[in-house]
Amino acid sequence: MIEIKNVSKWYGSFQVLTDCSTTVNKGEVVVVCGPSGSGKSTLIKTVNALEPFQQGEILVDGVSIGDPKTNLPKLRSRVGMVFQHFELFPHLSVTENLTLAQVKVLGRSKDEARARGLKMLDRVGLMAHKDKFPGQLSGGQQQRVAIARALSMDPIVMLFDEPTSALDPEMVGEVLDVMVQLAQEGMTMMCVTHEMGFARKVSHRVIFMDQGKIIEDCKKEEFFGNPEARSPRAKDFLSKIL
Ligand code: ATP
Ligand code: MG
Repeated sequence: MIEIKNVSKWYGSFQVLTDCSTTVNKGEVVVVCGPSGSGKSTLIKTVNALEPFQQGEILVDGVSIGDPKTNLPKLRSRVGMVFQHFELFPHLSVTENLTLAQVKVLGRSKDEARARGLKMLDRVGLMAHKDKFPGQLSGGQQQRVAIARALSMDPIVMLFDEPTSALDPEMVGEVLDVMVQLAQEGMTMMCVTHEMGFARKVSHRVIFMDQGKIIEDCKKEEFFGNPEARSPRAKDFLSKIL
């Protein structure tokens, strides 16, 4: 589904990603963790072409992101992305937020988009809020709308970049519940998160990054079950967050 092959990226002379390679298979849930500044956000953004890279290759469903012939808007529309900050359009209602890209990017009719959007809104448990504006919702509710919006586009994979880290603690659970449900339904997911409960519960693999490199990429059971075999940096990181 996602193949990242020897990707390197520089900001000017600063190398932010060094020879990163990994694969996310269909139906797989991969958690990406690591210290601040290690390149997690940059890596995940390269996958839906929000960040260009200078070396290597990324294939999404067999289509190369770096190929000039690739229709990037089309590709991007199939890669759902949920950020730390919800990035809903504040001047649009929840329903309008859910339908806009379906109409503009996928060319769906308004009725079709609305039906699909409301179905996804129901799925995240927020049907009662369909006519509200983002500012009238809690952070956790806004993030669930953002997830519903991404799902409305029928993504083949969902990318998450610390979707719960800007939330008040009491709202983290409701967003994680939606993510757990998605994972259990078989959605292919790549999630930057430090929620190790989530990682333990539903992930298949854990990637640990440090200084722009993928230092660990192993099965969840191996990552959590065999801490002694981890690299010193991963061990140190785990000891701080577990
Ligand atoms: P965090 O856990 O804090 O979100 P991260 O692992 O997501 O960190 P990135 O945001 O990917 O890290 O950043 C990796 C490195 O690249 C950092 O050192 C950061 O300062 C640098 N960086 C990020 N964006 C830019 C930019 N636009 N220009 C220059 N350097 C950047
Ligand atoms: Mg980040």
